[in-house]
Amino acid sequence: MSKPSPHFVGIFGGTFDPIHYGHLRIAEELVETINLHEMRFIPAGVPRLRPPPIASSRHRTSMVEVAIRNNARFVLDEREIHRPGTSYSIDSIRELRQEKGESVTLCLIMGADAFMKLANWHEWHDLFGLCHIIIAARPGHELATRPDSLPQALRGETAQRWAHSLADLESAPCGLIYIAPTILLDVSATVIRTLISNNRSVRYLLPDAVLDYIETNHLYSGEE
Ligand code: ATP
Repeated sequence: MSKPSPHFVGIFGGTFDPIHYGHLRIAEELVETINLHEMRFIPAGVPRLRPPPIASSRHRTSMVEVAIRNNARFVLDEREIHRPGTSYSIDSIRELRQEKGESVTLCLIMGADAFMKLANWHEWHDLFGLCHIIIAARPGHELATRPDSLPQALRGETAQRWAHSLADLESAPCGLIYIAPTILLDVSATVIRTLISNNRSVRYLLPDAVLDYIETNHLYSGEE
């Protein structure tokens, strides 16, 4: 792997209920291809656009912690867990922009399913003044072609923002959207929770350390 650039920081928010290889593989590939200095995993405390997570904030945070433990560029960022009230990504990104300074390029990572709902996000227009958006394709949620397949609100707002190559991302510290060609893994936390509640194996869908944590704490089985 080439020398990391000090200027690129990845921001990966999610409920991580639980974290799985879909998340980890995207993070690994983007650290490598964009040359991210660090990838910050930010578990949501109280998400606004979806039902409350099944596992507690403490358990979801601990699962991220054990999952990323052996990767020097993966960082657990607990700010949304500690912030009272609804978790808004924009608040975290504003804070990170302040902490990291103006010259750092912030890259907000999301799957195609999340991007298609971006226009529902709190103060989403402001994201473009703070970070780039990096989209990972997701089986069943592909961005067919851009921009015609996008929701109307995104179509207009994002028309001029598409980056055509990784090199484009270096031209500005924020404001672009890039579809990253990552390997597709059809894994979701929903499927993992369903399998566990049906007493089925989830081995090889997530790291063994996370599986051990789930079993030790009787998560998702209905016993917790
Ligand atoms: P759930 O099934 O509970 O909705 P999830 O598997 O989608 O969970 P989240 O923690 O909600 O996981 O996802 C965090 C981010 O990771 C989102 O932007 C989502 O689009 C992305 N993501 C999750 N799994 C994948 C995957 N297999 N491929 C691509 N993106 C993914």
